[in-house]
Amino acid sequence: MDISERMKQVAPSMTLAIDAKAKKLQAEGQDVLNFGAGEPDFNTPVPICEAAKKAIDEGHHKYTPVPGTLELRKAIAQYLEREYKVKYEPTEIVASCGAKHSLYNVFMALVNPGDEVLIPSPYWVSYPEQVKLAGGVPVFVDCPESSEFKLTAEALKAKITPRTKALVLNSPSNPTGAVLGRKAMEGIAELALRHKFWVVSDEIYAKLVYGEGHVCFPALSKEVAAQTILVNGMSKAFAMTGWRLGYAAGPSNVMKAVSDLQGQSTSNPTAIVQKAGVAAMALPDSEVQKMVAVFQKRRDMTVEGLNAIPGVKCLKPAGAFYVFPNVKGLFKPGRSNSMELSEYLLDKAKVALTPGIAFGAEGYMRLSYATGEKVILEGLKRIREAV
Ligand code: PMP
Ligand code: GLU
Repeated sequence: MDISERMKQVAPSMTLAIDAKAKKLQAEGQDVLNFGAGEPDFNTPVPICEAAKKAIDEGHHKYTPVPGTLELRKAIAQYLEREYKVKYEPTEIVASCGAKHSLYNVFMALVNPGDEVLIPSPYWVSYPEQVKLAGGVPVFVDCPESSEFKLTAEALKAKITPRTKALVLNSPSNPTGAVLGRKAMEGIAELALRHKFWVVSDEIYAKLVYGEGHVCFPALSKEVAAQTILVNGMSKAFAMTGWRLGYAAGPSNVMKAVSDLQGQSTSNPTAIVQKAGVAAMALPDSEVQKMVAVFQKRRDMTVEGLNAIPGVKCLKPAGAFYVFPNVKGLFKPGRSNSMELSEYLLDKAKVALTPGIAFGAEGYMRLSYATGEKVILEGLKRIREAV
């Protein structure tokens, strides 16, 4: 009596595992500071909560169309046009239970067994696992610290083969916070057009940029949009991680496949949450920018504090709410890699960080600074003392 070969190849999500461990220790009364999961500490903005309450009271208790209500898909289309100048019809949008779910559906809809999917590394933990679940082969494209963890057209080109089916783009990046500029995006788009592969552009951190604005990949041109599946969601920009609402947008034949898959698996995302999503899409951007300003201040504090620790070297990323310091200078027997260092810090300093190896990058650690300033200052102090 055995489980499937498929699941034997899939690693559990380390970001969620670290978060669960930290939250469990906190619940047991331990004074653990959690820099683990990428989860904004803000409450969901009030108008979004009010819309959900109203949805319950007004009786939105039934199944909706599988890809989400027309109202929600129209609201998403309007948001994407307003914020990123990219145009989609409601038939080109499918809402799912979080961007993670959207990504899973998209890989299932695009990838055949043996297809290669290019993944810039360091990468977010779920990309390779989802690609494998779809029968694909993850092919990593190295984006080293020396190039500020940014994907370049040159590095990408070297990994393209006749089996390349898709590229996963993630700007701003989890775990590095790296943001790609327009020129880099154009170079990548040129390769995608020339070699005819899909681009799955995960833009969930699009709103969290400090400095130059976000470049929306499908907004580059009509031709690029025809080969791109845009993925985004409510979790990060609207502090809605627990609500589980994300979406994918792209050519209608792909989105029909995504919707058909969803119709045989989870059906529509929660009806009440969809109403909240409509309110999120209508929230004035100034509300989101208030949170962005707070994140920027925290980023600066975190980077400064980390660089003040001997043996740590930390770039200042332009987006998301993560930093990805080089911690090789802290390695010693007993804490000789990122996993051991993470265990050491949780044990000695009661600080939870995610080891770089979870993202394919040994020698680094990821800190999420989507947490309060007090926690950041105290956490950095504890790390400094422990090492
Ligand atoms: N993509 C990236 C890069 C992420 O960091 C996350 C974080 N959870 C997701 C997608 C999925 O977000 P959610 O499922 O909460 O929408
Ligand atoms: N995306 C967040 C992170 O990387 C949340 C956890 C997850 O979904 O993996 O920490």
